[in-house]
Amino acid sequence: MKSIDALVAAGLVEPDPTLRAVAEKYAIGITPAVLDLIDSNDPADPMARQFVPTLAELITTPEERADPIGDLAHSPIEGIVHRYPDRVLLKAVHVCPVYCRFCFRREMVGPQGLGTLTSAELDAAIAYIAEREEIWEVILTGGDPLVLSPRRLRDLMERLAEIDHVKIVRFHTRVPVVEPERIDDAMVAALTASGKTTYLAVHANHPREFSPAARAAFRRLSEGGIVLISQSVLLKGVNDDVDTLAALMRGFVENRIKPYYLHHPDLAPGTGHFRVSVESGQALVAALRGRISGLCQPTYVLDIPGGHGKADIGAASIVGRDGCFTVRDWQGGEHAYPPGDA
Ligand code: SF4
Repeated sequence: MKSIDALVAAGLVEPDPTLRAVAEKYAIGITPAVLDLIDSNDPADPMARQFVPTLAELITTPEERADPIGDLAHSPIEGIVHRYPDRVLLKAVHVCPVYCRFCFRREMVGPQGLGTLTSAELDAAIAYIAEREEIWEVILTGGDPLVLSPRRLRDLMERLAEIDHVKIVRFHTRVPVVEPERIDDAMVAALTASGKTTYLAVHANHPREFSPAARAAFRRLSEGGIVLISQSVLLKGVNDDVDTLAALMRGFVENRIKPYYLHHPDLAPGTGHFRVSVESGQALVAALRGRISGLCQPTYVLDIPGGHGKADIGAASIVGRDGCFTVRDWQGGEHAYPPGDA
């Protein structure tokens, strides 16, 4: 489903000419698997909120920016973002099966976005990686790299296999949740074709995303030898309460996905209605610490605007200097460290 007309026909939005202005700016994409998860009778449905466009997207604020995490400042050539010495992003494709309304790369993805690398651009990107021995990890992101066919992914992985200094290949994807039928034997074989260690970061934001088909996709991936980690975005009206976040993180762990990043929402244009305050995010992750197992704890991170990388912004639980600290427990109690005389 890629147009306002299709959304109207499915009963997901009312006919509204102004909504067409949203569609002209930002791509729309809803897969059958996502449609199954949407409760169109609930005006506050957290699944609809993630995928169904709204007029709120036409409101931009002065602090928002087209490239909120500063990819372009660290892009030496097309398709490569080299922000940290030992790893690069390889953005082979800028399309996705769904278009999330809060997407931090919403100005780059979609049919009018940056497109797919040409074969000459891909050759140059692979050569860039091959020439730099400090690159230990290649992170395939986009767009969603799993929209590529298993044949194209296998080709790419076989080319990375020839670069000895690359030890880890990581994929960031929404596909196991939003198009789980793509995760078949051919896809799993392609993702592991390099012989390197393959990590796959599953993007999910609400426990309802763990449908039976998504769980089966996770199982195929992990049984295929792929290490699964999570990434989620903290989103107002979707998962900004402790019960939902706890269920989301437990859901990951139950599916052999280690919680990794909980992102503070980025300053992407037209996404102010999703943003929570840093303080409320910190309170939520502090509450998680008391509620659920250490296995389920994500790292709460902010991508510093301008391309300065990620910062861990979980509640600062220790302050002090010269060997004397005050450490805060998960209920907010403060304790001296080292403790005074017993
Ligand atoms: S799948 Fe990722 S890149 Fe694609 S629209 Fe959603 S958040 Fe953006």
